[in-house]
Amino acid sequence: MDDAFCSAWLQAAARAVAAGRERLTDLDAAIGDADHGANLDRGFTEVRQALDSGAAGRPLGVAGMTLIRKVGGASGPLYGSFLRAMGGALGESFTLSEFAAAFQAGVSEVARLGKAAEGDKTMLDALLPAARALAEAVREGAQAREAFERAARAAGEGAWATVPLVARKGRASYLGERSAGHEDPGAASSALIVAALVTAVEG
Ligand code: ADP
Ligand code: MG
Repeated sequence: MDDAFCSAWLQAAARAVAAGRERLTDLDAAIGDADHGANLDRGFTEVRQALDSGAAGRPLGVAGMTLIRKVGGASGPLYGSFLRAMGGALGESFTLSEFAAAFQAGVSEVARLGKAAEGDKTMLDALLPAARALAEAVREGAQAREAFERAARAAGEGAWATVPLVARKGRASYLGERSAGHEDPGAASSALIVAALVTAVEG
């Protein structure tokens, strides 16, 4: 695996975010300020343009900086830092095991910056189970496609499991108990971004 895979992943993530834009905005309308879909779609559109125009630097770093610079709201800096931390942990070519370790490093950076933990009803409720599933698949000797499918399933289940939770971080936490009963928008977008790994590995 190499940087070309990371570019394919980011392109697939951008398409998934564009396709999911309305649903993400609807989720954010319920417990936030209705900008998550638009924020992320704008950011990932810029990421695609940066990658297509051959911006200097490696794909995860370029994408991370772009999201930090272009996306307002909590999610831009968090996703941007996730991708930058991942990129910093990866050489230009790498094994699946190294990719899984880098993914974990990115998720740890989100937790550190956001001061959030699993169960706080944030993107971490999708990202942490995905990182665990990826690591477990690697330990069991799975190939990339199966490992990413398992990570995507874990992220999707984690996102869905945010529905009954009361938010303890981010804008949704201002609602207190009223945040329960809705899927967290950031967890939903994380599930899309993780599922894009499967799209990318399918080529
Ligand atoms: P904003 O809340 O500033 O409008 P977005 O709507 O783009 O930003 O993103 C909201 C998402 O960001 C939430 O659904 C949640 O998943 C994630 N989020 C917010 N605060 C944190 C945090 N402290 N740690 C991790 N994720 C967070
Ligand atoms: Mg919002």
